[in-house]
Amino acid sequence: MPDELPGVADLQILFAQYNFVHFDGEIPTYRIAYNARFSNVAGRITYKPPLIELSPKHLRGKVDELRETLLHEMIHAWLHARGENAGHTPTFKRKMRELGLRSIYHDLGTAAPLNPSTKRYILRCEKCGMEALRKRKPPPHVTCARCRKPLTLFEVVEMREVEPARAAHRRS
Ligand SMILES: [Zn+2]
Ligand SMILES: [Zn+2]
Repeated sequence: MPDELPGVADLQILFAQYNFVHFDGEIPTYRIAYNARFSNVAGRITYKPPLIELSPKHLRGKVDELRETLLHEMIHAWLHARGENAGHTPTFKRKMRELGLRSIYHDLGTAAPLNPSTKRYILRCEKCGMEALRKRKPPPHVTCARCRKPLTLFEVVEMREVEPARAAHRRS
């Protein structure tokens, strides 16, 4: 295919394979999705509801980086599932080395990931795709101003930032 992006169903299979091979199947089911709206993040993980989102804009044609980003987010999910600190702890780094991942930021960018304790919330309308970011947890039963549909609340654990100016040009 010209866009060189695995389909979402393939990502879901990859997730299941990685989970089995590298994490003893300890990670609960996560939905894997692309989010074309990302402007400066390569990936995003939320635990409630469990969701890993990847940026087609930054990962298109970069299969290795896409796999590494997925694996990186899976380590967070794995630690979270074990009830451990899900941040970039020594355990996290040991697991990274075990899986042959290069570095926390690999070459997607230089910005530090958000501290896992500084939570952000996303309200999303599944009908029109509207998204709103919140620092504090919004009250329940918020509805979309346009569609009058109840919004889904996502709790963001980590966003992996990319360098905005260079990301588009970095090809070796
Ligand atoms: Zn991370
Ligand atoms: Zn809406």
